[in-house]
Amino acid sequence: MFERILIANRGEIALRVIRACKELGIGTVAVFSEADRGAQYLELADQAFCIGTAKSADSYLKIDQIIAAAEAGNVDAIHPGYGFLAENSHFNEVCRSCDFEFIGPSPDAMEKLGDKAQARAMAIAADVPVVPGSPGLIESHEAAVEAAKKIGYPVLIKATAGGGGKGMRVAMDEASLQTSLSQAQTEAKAAFGNGGVYLERFIDRPRHVEVQIIADKHGNVVHLGERDCSVQRRHQKLVEESPSPRLPKKTRDAMCEAAVRLVKSANYFNAATVEFIVDQNDDFYFIEVNARIQVEHPVTEMVTGIDLIKTQILVAAGEVLPFKQSDIKPRGASIECRINAEDPDKNFQPCPGKIQAMYVPGGMGVRFDSHAHTGYTVPPHYDSMIGKLIVYRPTRKEAIATMRRCLAELRVTGIKTTAGFQSEVLAQPEFADGTVDTKWVEREFLPRRGK
Ligand code: ADP
Repeated sequence: MFERILIANRGEIALRVIRACKELGIGTVAVFSEADRGAQYLELADQAFCIGTAKSADSYLKIDQIIAAAEAGNVDAIHPGYGFLAENSHFNEVCRSCDFEFIGPSPDAMEKLGDKAQARAMAIAADVPVVPGSPGLIESHEAAVEAAKKIGYPVLIKATAGGGGKGMRVAMDEASLQTSLSQAQTEAKAAFGNGGVYLERFIDRPRHVEVQIIADKHGNVVHLGERDCSVQRRHQKLVEESPSPRLPKKTRDAMCEAAVRLVKSANYFNAATVEFIVDQNDDFYFIEVNARIQVEHPVTEMVTGIDLIKTQILVAAGEVLPFKQSDIKPRGASIECRINAEDPDKNFQPCPGKIQAMYVPGGMGVRFDSHAHTGYTVPPHYDSMIGKLIVYRPTRKEAIATMRRCLAELRVTGIKTTAGFQSEVLAQPEFADGTVDTKWVEREFLPRRGK
């Protein structure tokens, strides 16, 4: 087992990994930017190194600084968390070539599955349903017109290197295809340095359902069930839950098995999430793989009882998965709300600043993963999530009631948060019915709310 791990991240996920390491008896090395200097969670690590100035490009994305900290801290392994360098196969390779185990997949598997068009081709080869679309990347406008005719409008133009909804455009007809195509290509080239795009049929009112996978280096691949992340605003997830409400057992089983097939075919190890969209007929289609731990992993931990971060560390150290597929029996219902320092009444504008007072809810089945506290200053340089409120109850109905109680109990003064907004979402009949689709917040809830 590892003696010491460096966490190449900040905030909530850095704290989450430090906690797992402590329980495993593993030493921890944290890194921080000037903007995070003095943050309380850093005191929980055995050592902490400053790796640069506030801007991520000059700190959390600085590979040489992180490697220097790993050397100074004499660690055996590096946990990348999510975001920043977590899906950067070059960083993965550099870590390994410097003899630090990267807690994640091999650079090769990361690269193959990280490219959406390649992952799509692998999914087809592994007999995993994909959204009907162009056979590969679109090379010319004529090819796009041709492909879109076969697929049927509206079509979605997607960047192969895409993420966070960037480089994605809907074309309603042939006339808008040309402009949308060049817009998507330009946006993708600017954001990812790769302008490659492909087409998919635009699925009407889909739900977003994803499967958690964990795999060891001995060929064992186990799925830990699914999460539903349909409550989104502009492709940003706001509420996540497990299990997915209303998903027929047949669909769930087929989806989980498909996710395992795909990951196996890539000789993948460590944690992965295979994302699908589910249409109104409960047919599911693969959309992408996230080759890292995800923000919403706690809901899976709650229903399966498995600590995903600890398991990531175990399998990275070469251990065999301590459970088999038949051992996984999800129970109960878990919901997570991402508490962001944003103002829902001002178009979710980020609200960095000092938290004057913070009161955290508790009680049965309540978990709050957060690095924030009274007196903490949310820096303006990074994403605005200040914590994740997670509940776990025997039934979904009880989980909703507990979450609403907790959102009301959570008090954060000095900055605005999304908590009140999430409480309103959870009170809607569509949420109770489990019929929310990925555009519901923008199409129905925001206009209804009228702010
Ligand atoms: P990104 O990596 O940029 O987030 P994804 O491929 O994960 O892009 O898609 C993001 C979201 O876009 C999905 O959660 C879903 O809501 C929507 N989406 C993706 N593909 C389709 C599609 N073919 N039809 C309709 N909506 C889609």
